[in-house]
Amino acid sequence: MLALRPNCECCDRDIAPDSRDAFMCSFECTYCRDCAEGELAGTCPNCGGELVRRPVRPAAALLKFPSRTERTPVKRRSVETKPS
Ligand SMILES: [Zn+2]
Ligand SMILES: [Zn+2]
Repeated sequence: MLALRPNCECCDRDIAPDSRDAFMCSFECTYCRDCAEGELAGTCPNCGGELVRRPVRPAAALLKFPSRTERTPVKRRSVETKPS
């Protein structure tokens, strides 16, 4: 079953389980639309895989199969330490 992660792994913003602005790769690395379509340009920075929109889990299904509550730590990327 798909792990619905509660936050963007790039900018750490909250992503609701029913959000249509959630993107993920095949390993379930999860990003918001701004990051996925912006600086990540549709490619997962962890595995190099394709980012696609995360399917919405209907509210009725969420009652039975809730989204994950544990936040995924944001990975510090080398980009931030590089001199500009
Ligand atoms: Zn983000
Ligand atoms: Zn990935």
